[in-house]
Amino acid sequence: MSMTPEVLADFRRRLQEIEGDLRTHLNDTVEGSEIVELDSPIGRDTRIEAIQLQKMNNANRVRAKARLQLVMTALEKIESDEELYGLCGECGEDIGQRRLEVRPESPLCLSCQSELEGGVDNGKRGRRSRKS
Ligand SMILES: [Zn+2]
Repeated sequence: MSMTPEVLADFRRRLQEIEGDLRTHLNDTVEGSEIVELDSPIGRDTRIEAIQLQKMNNANRVRAKARLQLVMTALEKIESDEELYGLCGECGEDIGQRRLEVRPESPLCLSCQSELEGGVDNGKRGRRSRKS
């Protein structure tokens, strides 16, 4: 992707910022299963509330971990080959600077991403998404 060094440096800085925020978030929260003691003497409503909070907390952590993974991958791309950053991992096309400005860790272009999320086969050529 044709990016000026300044733009690339800016994306790198933002990615590092996001990485720091996510790591802080993950360090500051714990796996929810440890929050609610089943035997603890709290009221039923409080317990339901606690369980809901716990689920939200877990969901947030899952999202944060997934995002951190993408951020790390994007940073690795910049480190290994600056040209790779900003290219779609599926079709190899430019992800687009506007999309990267919203989410600098985006690994896919918009059309590959929506295909992946919607599971819609719009007849577009491309490798199958990697299952890991
Ligand atoms: Zn793509």
